[in-house]
Amino acid sequence: MIENKEKKFFLYLNKNRCGGCEICVHLCPTGILEIGDELNMRISYIPRVKEGKEQYCMACRRCEYGCPDWCIYIMPEEEDENSAGKAKT
Ligand code: SF4
Ligand code: SF4
Repeated sequence: MIENKEKKFFLYLNKNRCGGCEICVHLCPTGILEIGDELNMRISYIPRVKEGKEQYCMACRRCEYGCPDWCIYIMPEEEDENSAGKAKT
């Protein structure tokens, strides 16, 4: 979802594990997440970052800790090379 080179982190969403509960949308203190119009394999509408709001993600991990399906998470940039194959959206 987000690749923030300046702050050196990525925000990942594992699309097909998402249940579309919207918890992450409501937990995000900067309000940058919204439910989009894309359906996943669970027939859930999945969240996305609002257009042009990527730079406002603080990597606070509230979305990560609140997600009941463990499918949205922050990863430091240096760990990215070791996690090939993980879904990046
Ligand atoms: S890490 Fe924090 S600021 Fe970034 S999307 Fe998740 S809740 Fe919002
Ligand atoms: S909290 Fe998790 S399961 Fe719920 S909409 Fe967000 S990413 Fe999907």
